[in-house]
Amino acid sequence: MKALGIEGTAWNLSVAVVDEKDVLVQISDPYIPKVGGIHPREAAQHHAEKLPKIISKVFDLLSVEEIDLIAFSQGPGLGPCLRVVATAARLLALKLNVPLVGVNHCLAHLEIGRWKSGAKNPVTLYVSGGNSQVIARRGRRYRVFGETLDIGIGNAIDKLARYIGLPHPGGPKIEQLARNGSKYYSLPYIVKGMDLSFSGLVTAAQKMYDSGVKIEDIAFSFQETAFAMLTEVTERALAYLKNDEVLLVGGVGANLRLQEMLKTMCEERGAKFFAPPKEYMGDNGAMIAYTGLLMFRSGHSTKIEESYVKPDFRIEEVEITWL
Ligand code: AMP
Ligand code: MG
Repeated sequence: MKALGIEGTAWNLSVAVVDEKDVLVQISDPYIPKVGGIHPREAAQHHAEKLPKIISKVFDLLSVEEIDLIAFSQGPGLGPCLRVVATAARLLALKLNVPLVGVNHCLAHLEIGRWKSGAKNPVTLYVSGGNSQVIARRGRRYRVFGETLDIGIGNAIDKLARYIGLPHPGGPKIEQLARNGSKYYSLPYIVKGMDLSFSGLVTAAQKMYDSGVKIEDIAFSFQETAFAMLTEVTERALAYLKNDEVLLVGGVGANLRLQEMLKTMCEERGAKFFAPPKEYMGDNGAMIAYTGLLMFRSGHSTKIEESYVKPDFRIEEVEITWL
């Protein structure tokens, strides 16, 4: 069975075809803001302009008759972007006369993470632009055990990067700078149970910049603080659930310092650390296609009249029927 999946909740527009064994095709065309951060309307315009081209490239590589279902990211995400993706997905499903599956974007990060890393039933740390959550399965639902109370860690990093004059996305550049930092300045460390907060950390780091601290040391202090917070809540969930697997997913998961901290924590607890290859960390079409396939094979499908976008779609809303 082959599923075509469309991802476009925010910056990355990506279409992929997968079957049970592998990712067969993936073509992406990311939106890169000229100034500032992601502008929802501009991102949606980018997606609307590029999506037909990407889809026709995909069908240059395999024939339309091979596609058995269309999956799309139904939410959470930016409303205008989600509407472009959903419109294209409905059109394709009707035109090819195949089923449609609306996929939760966070669930898709998690399922491709399990698929591509071999983790079975992990505590998942999902860290991206808009989200930061600690998730684990309880029976037939994934449950969020802790999450950010304000902005996602990726968004926090990008805000800091912009403030110190670095273009979007700031994550890789802050990681690079931090490698050359050495002096640790104390910053607000905000963990409440298994929840986190990053906005005060961003403001404090911005003030450090205003007072003339070296950007390498700011990046270093910021990463050490934020990643220690994330590692602490992951460890707390692991202990609470008596679990021994940690899976890292989401765009910020590409950060080697975050990976290193989580690995150290896992080693100290006798747990195992898992992460998918970098290409499946950030937003990608394959994760939507793969999760759509899992869901469809276990009884899910989305009627056209129920395929409206869900900007606040939570992972707990989806019943797990494939495990
Ligand atoms: P996603 O929404 O899952 O695609 O993740 C996008 C976010 O990942 C953006 O906020 C990026 O700045 C961030 N990101 C990408 N690479 C890195 C990195 N190496 N370190 C930290 N953050 C990163
Ligand atoms: Mg994402």
